[in-house]
Amino acid sequence: TVSSAYDRLMEDGVLEGHVGRGTFVAERALRVTEPADPTAPLRWADLFAGATPPPRARYPETGDAPVIPFHRNVPDPALFPVEAFRVALDEVMREAGSELLGYAPAEGYPGFTDFVVDHVRAARGVSVAPDEVLVVNGSQQALDLIGRAFLRPGDTVAVEDPTYTGALEILRGFEARVVTIATDAGGIRLDDAERVFARERPRFLYTMPTYQNPTGRSLADERREGLVRLAARYEVPLVEDDFDGELGYEPHTPRPLKALSGSRGVIYIGTPSKMLFPGLRIGWVLADPAVVERLGRMKQVADLSSSQLLQAAFARFAADGELTRHRARVRTAYAARLERLLAALERHLPEGSTWTRPRGGMSLMVTLPEGVSAEAVLRETAPEGVLFAPGSWFSPGNGARHLRLCFGSVADEALEPGVEILARAAKAVRARARRPRGDAEAALPSV
Ligand code: PMP
Repeated sequence: TVSSAYDRLMEDGVLEGHVGRGTFVAERALRVTEPADPTAPLRWADLFAGATPPPRARYPETGDAPVIPFHRNVPDPALFPVEAFRVALDEVMREAGSELLGYAPAEGYPGFTDFVVDHVRAARGVSVAPDEVLVVNGSQQALDLIGRAFLRPGDTVAVEDPTYTGALEILRGFEARVVTIATDAGGIRLDDAERVFARERPRFLYTMPTYQNPTGRSLADERREGLVRLAARYEVPLVEDDFDGELGYEPHTPRPLKALSGSRGVIYIGTPSKMLFPGLRIGWVLADPAVVERLGRMKQVADLSSSQLLQAAFARFAADGELTRHRARVRTAYAARLERLLAALERHLPEGSTWTRPRGGMSLMVTLPEGVSAEAVLRETAPEGVLFAPGSWFSPGNGARHLRLCFGSVADEALEPGVEILARAAKAVRARARRPRGDAEAALPSV
């Protein structure tokens, strides 16, 4: 072994043999590379490890016209309860400032964990014990921790088609193989879920059963138990992202998977980002204590803990009755916007267009007529200030005719003018698509 190692090193020029003297490290191998220029910048691109994150999807430039933000899946800042939240923050600072300004336990500030237990029971019908709760910095961190806990590069994860782009980005970051499950008006199709579970044995299924992003559709009530049973049978954990389950505009909001019997395999993620505001960066995971413990340990390694000042202020805001009041206010406002948007779509979109009719949340999905590309339409509407996310961003390799319209932060009076601009652009693109070949669309600059 030693002698073949010597041979190899000789071949590589690292060693030199001198007859009668022995074997020496070659002069060339000892030479240190030129000293680096201390004033030159480091070549960062060569120093980064791992896969390069894909660039963020970019919207085309808008002109001078005011932006009508159908692209922003966020609540309306004009409705943020700034004053009521300031009062809650002030109260908890006055009462327990020096305690709250320290680190929280990694699993969450105890007062907040208790709040979560009560809140999810009252608002979503989910019963959990405190050791089944982990407080995180928003649902995005929950997804990241789940990735760290369950994925190795090359592992398979199932998602519904279409799905949330932020989840796809995280899965790409973990170098997961993403397989899609077909959906229809009732959400995930159970026959396709069974096919994927049996054939692909995914590490988990990431799903938004209630008012999903981007379509706004919900998993049909009669499929919910079936999905939980199926996942249990194939031992596939279900990651339930209930990001806007509290923004229902109907008397009956679908029950989360986590509220169904036999749901021990469900890892539930909740957030106030859509029903209240996203700047808190707070969220909660409800899961089996073994999962909470593992994710909690990973969270501690990643960032020690979430802000207990904000957890305490949020719990106080809720205890003062402000959360309930706020939710009632925004539900009324967004439900009215949804109705207005649906009416405008009916009035203006070209024949052959269809769209979903959500009963909660802040987004819906339009399907344009045959041959009309949503990205081409976006290039037409952007200079007029109308932005939206094309469907291809939510469906890997799919979704060219789809587009997501978010109505949460579009002012009432901008909804119809925005749809008129969209409809005009869709008609123009359709007219061009019908012309003979030769004026093909240029690709979006950066998607
Ligand atoms: N899940 C879905 C489906 C979302 O749309 C978003 C926000 N865009 C998130 C999770 C992340 O929300 P947060 O981290 O603010 O809780």
